[in-house]
Amino acid sequence: MALTESETNPSGAAPDTDRDLERELRERVDGEVRFDAGSRAAYSTDASNFRQVPVGVVVPRTPEAAAAAVAVCRDHDVPVLSRGGGTSLAGQCTNTAVVLDWTKYCHRVVSVDQQQRTCVVEPGIVLDMLNQQLADTGLRFGPEPATHMNCTIGGMIGNNSCGATAQRTGKVVDNIAALEVLLYDGTRFWCGPASDEEYAQVERRGDRQAEIYRRLRRLRDQYAGQIRDRYPDIPRRVSGYNLDSLLPEHGFDVAGLLVGSESTLVTVLRARLKLVPVLPERSLVVLGYPSVARAADAVPAILPHEPIALEGLDHRLIRDQQAKHINPQALAELPEGSAFLMVQFGGNDRDEVDAAAQRMLDALHETEHDPSVEFFDDPAREDELWQVREAGLGATAHVPGQPDTFEGWEDSAVPPARLGDYFRDLLALYDEFGFSSDTMPSLYGHFGQGCVHTRIPFDLYSAEGVAAYRAFMERAADLVVSYGGSLSGEHGDGQSRGELLTRMFGPELVGAFGELKTIFDPANRMNPGKIVNPNALDEHLRLGADWSPASPQDLFFRYPHDGGSFAQAANRCVGIGKCRQHAHPSGAVMCPSYQVTGEEEHSTRGRARLLFEMLNGHPDSPVTDGWRSEAVRDALDLCLACKGCKTDCPANVDMATYKAEFLAHHWQGRQWRRPRSDLSLGWLPLLARGVTALRAARPVNALTRTPGVHRALTRLGGLEPREVPPFAAPTLRRWFASREPGGDGRHGTVLLWPDTFTNYFHPHVGMAATVVLEQAGWRVEIPPRPLCCGLTWISTGQLTTGKRMLARTMASLADHVRAGGYVVGLEPSCTTVFRADAAELFPDDQDVRRLRDHVVTLAELLGQHTPGWAPPPIHREVLAQVHCHQHAVLGWDADAGLLAQAGATAEALESGCCGLAGNFGFQRGHGQVSRDCAEQVLLPRLRDARPEAVILADGFSCRTQIHELDSGGREAIHLAELLAAAGEGRNSAAQQGQQGGTAGRFTSSAG
Ligand SMILES: Cc1cc2nc3c(=O)[nH]c(=O)nc-3n(C[C@H](O)[C@H](O)[C@H](O)COP(=O)(O)OP(=O)(O)OC[C@H]3O[C@@H](n4cnc5c(N)ncnc54)[C@H](O)[C@@H]3O)c2cc1C
Ligand code: SF4
Ligand code: SF4
Repeated sequence: MALTESETNPSGAAPDTDRDLERELRERVDGEVRFDAGSRAAYSTDASNFRQVPVGVVVPRTPEAAAAAVAVCRDHDVPVLSRGGGTSLAGQCTNTAVVLDWTKYCHRVVSVDQQQRTCVVEPGIVLDMLNQQLADTGLRFGPEPATHMNCTIGGMIGNNSCGATAQRTGKVVDNIAALEVLLYDGTRFWCGPASDEEYAQVERRGDRQAEIYRRLRRLRDQYAGQIRDRYPDIPRRVSGYNLDSLLPEHGFDVAGLLVGSESTLVTVLRARLKLVPVLPERSLVVLGYPSVARAADAVPAILPHEPIALEGLDHRLIRDQQAKHINPQALAELPEGSAFLMVQFGGNDRDEVDAAAQRMLDALHETEHDPSVEFFDDPAREDELWQVREAGLGATAHVPGQPDTFEGWEDSAVPPARLGDYFRDLLALYDEFGFSSDTMPSLYGHFGQGCVHTRIPFDLYSAEGVAAYRAFMERAADLVVSYGGSLSGEHGDGQSRGELLTRMFGPELVGAFGELKTIFDPANRMNPGKIVNPNALDEHLRLGADWSPASPQDLFFRYPHDGGSFAQAANRCVGIGKCRQHAHPSGAVMCPSYQVTGEEEHSTRGRARLLFEMLNGHPDSPVTDGWRSEAVRDALDLCLACKGCKTDCPANVDMATYKAEFLAHHWQGRQWRRPRSDLSLGWLPLLARGVTALRAARPVNALTRTPGVHRALTRLGGLEPREVPPFAAPTLRRWFASREPGGDGRHGTVLLWPDTFTNYFHPHVGMAATVVLEQAGWRVEIPPRPLCCGLTWISTGQLTTGKRMLARTMASLADHVRAGGYVVGLEPSCTTVFRADAAELFPDDQDVRRLRDHVVTLAELLGQHTPGWAPPPIHREVLAQVHCHQHAVLGWDADAGLLAQAGATAEALESGCCGLAGNFGFQRGHGQVSRDCAEQVLLPRLRDARPEAVILADGFSCRTQIHELDSGGREAIHLAELLAAAGEGRNSAAQQGQQGGTAGRFTSSAG
């Protein structure tokens, strides 16, 4: 089916009845109010199997503003749902409600009390951000889900989260001192454990809180026996409401009761958290076993040694990571075995920590659980190993060559001592349901606490598949209950497990849950359909037997990894929210626009959701105008096409490609309506060719530097009023044509790719590369006539022209690559077109494949294909801005290796995208985001850099951004320039480059 306006829903706008609500929210709430199709699409699901389109979204600026929003919803009798990072896996964070997104503004640390080891925070703060802010105190919040980079305290409270650290610090419920909560009816109070005296004080007030407390006591007293009998006594009981917190032995803890209530009872406005000391010393022991059940059998023998974390994983998780090339180094360090336990010890003293680990090993060797062992006490290697376990869910989603896997039974928990037997029975159940082929799901999790993670290849696309999913869930629920376990040991009930609660708790206690709901939310307006009176586990599925997305056939890209289907590509995102992280761990790039705007719609996930909705697979999709959708265009507008997600997203969502595809269709048949920058930037290669042919570089440069003319030209071209890079004279091609070839060419002939940016703007880079290559023994050639990789057309979505350009180039380079010759690319973006985009545009073309395999970076050619070559000495500190496309596609290992060999002290800055990203930063309207991206890490690091440090940036965009913005007067050079300068024994040339913009003698700007 094609994807045109006429074939989609007639209207995606919020219904008329919601207009008054929207207006009043705007009037009464200090925050952003969004009822547009794009926002409703972006928030239509979490990381679960479910999807419900919200009524609208409110982004409050303060907790008081959120309270005002709830009041307006109450006046309109509309449900409310709070949302943090939206990483919930059970459907508790999707609903037909007004969604309160806490993350953009409500993330303040209100106070820290070091002595009491507590802090008060707003609910939208991300866990890692909180712990970062607490770093100076030596304290931290204990529970740590694997999503710690993007999950919020509000969401953790909502779900009663935990994670590997729970072995030491327990679940969130064990770490909350008090909560400030708001009921749907407007009642608002702080609560926590209440002694009899405190209870009496509240009761004397006779207000709504007193009524609630009285009713809670009555409920507790009525069900105390059942609670003590039927609540499993295990570390990971997360299912059900925490009625046990009301028991006298738990101090009538109303805050504890509300933890894990998934927005179904109250809205949390602020929280007082208990903090734990950071343990400075840690060591990790990895134990190998022949099977996952045998590994689990060893758990009881390890627990008495009091590890701070005890995690487990099987060989299938390793298989999935190998298939996705995740954590290759760490995988190689695992001991022998088919399943592994990762046991961590912590303390204040290294010897003490190591001794604890050794004691455990000695004890294990005496038992039948004798494992193979690797011992790590180097924090960096330990972190790498930890990544293998943390990769869990991301690694098991969209594994090449394997069926899609889904949540559902992804966090059950049993008594740790019975885990091994539970595995044996669970595996038998997999067998019965046909999940135990080669592609059987992996099993991993918090074995020390009996909690198991897995993603199962349910068929959620067909009626039979959905029926099998239901049958499996019911059988698995009975199994876990037979072990005295919990349906959920970590992620909550939401919709996945809501209807199964009766199997675990029995009808009376489930009745008590209903009574509890009535005490707090009699009108059922708080996240209805979750936990209590739950929607069925096969209702509101994001996919489901009725899912019928458009399947456009007239695609430009061929989506070889998605069976040629744009719908499959748009369905890649599994919602885990890694694209919402705020820092750049291990040099990650994704997602620069989200990092700057803090908007769901500007995260990779938000964009993926919009594309998913655009395909209109469900009748209530809010995006109804297909490729013509302005909502989708707006969400994609701030995508820098940096390709960060292509690598950093565990599901390899490739938004840059989807953006180009979308724009091509969006403007099809109405080219004249495209932004003017598509002409000025998209057609830059031809424009630059014209300027050169007319020998007009000097006058054009003079004009673009004349203030009035510059203003007029940038406006005319749809550009930001920023510096226009000057044309150089001579161009690289002209310079090259005017010289005699050098060197002995003993390694053969290499084709130097004269990309537009190098040729017309920074030819000194190409000149330097020519000299370096010739000195290294290569005969350098340049294609005889002007060619283009098509990058600027591709990135602006002018794919017909882009493909034409690329096809012409392929034909011209065919002879060279057929003969096995290398093509060396200097500009990372253009090199990436040959290495990645071309193969997705022309997957069956053999010449394209050959070129993909023969296009190399300078560092790759010199380091890997030039026998006997050694770099000249570079005894300098080098700070490298790794281009996003180097990060995502080309890699920077060869560069790092070369610099190390040269003796340089090189650091790849963890700065993500420079913010210019080809055409992005030049397009009118993108200036602020472009600058803000650069200000995240890159510019501050350069301003702080030591004067003698060399700044390396292979990307024209990165060098331009560093040149133009406030980098403390620093300039960046290309690796070719650094090598050329060093090769001449002229370190001073590199230094000059730092000050003057280019490496000395290669300067060639046309004045
Ligand atoms: C890959 C992956 C790994 C995960 N690993 C773990 C793990 O190791 N341990 C673990 O416990 N969980 C894990 N989870 C589940 C999830 O990440 C955690 O539960 C996390 O704490 C949720 O935080 P969030 O900010 O994303 O919450 P959200 O999903 O936004 O919300 C969670 C619940 O809290 C409610 N809520 C949010 N804010 C408020 C508020 N202010 N007032 C009232 N209710 C509110 C929401 O309505 C929702 O019901 C994982 C999920 C994924 C996708
Ligand atoms: S885009 Fe990738 S990283 Fe972001 S939520 Fe989706 S799967 Fe996760
Ligand atoms: S290409 Fe870059 S900016 Fe665009 S969604 Fe991916 S990471 Fe974000």
